[in-house]
Amino acid sequence: MSSIFSKIIAGEIPCHKVAENDEFIAFLDINPKTDGHTLVIPKQEIDYLFDIDDEVLGRMMVFAKTVAHAIEKAIPCTRIGVAVIGLEVPHAHIHLIPISKESDLFADKSKKTPEELAQTAALIRERLM
Ligand code: AMP
Repeated sequence: MSSIFSKIIAGEIPCHKVAENDEFIAFLDINPKTDGHTLVIPKQEIDYLFDIDDEVLGRMMVFAKTVAHAIEKAIPCTRIGVAVIGLEVPHAHIHLIPISKESDLFADKSKKTPEELAQTAALIRERLM
């Protein structure tokens, strides 16, 4: 069940990484709904978030929490919305989406240049330190 996210984990294709540990990676969505839209994925190849082992899922949420707080500090927003969709990429992931109103969660995907994404990722990384 290899997907484009497996290639990101393997370093075979680039991403705008925000955070990483032994088990998880967070990187910017390539077509963000709002500025700072980040995906948190397990390195384990597994399709559906709710098939993840309980303890791993717990650690993944704690990892996502740390990233969410960094996004909040880096990107003007009211809070970080969370979505689990998974209809496009069959590798479990959590969307962390900076929102100021409910409709931000359902915004159309935007196009950003690699330079814009790199700048946003750097801002979030700085807030993790
Ligand atoms: P879904 O599987 O429906 O949750 O959507 C997958 C998300 O992954 C979409 O928001 C895409 O924009 C995003 N995406 C797909 N390929 C990449 C990639 N190479 N780097 C970053 N985000 C991606």
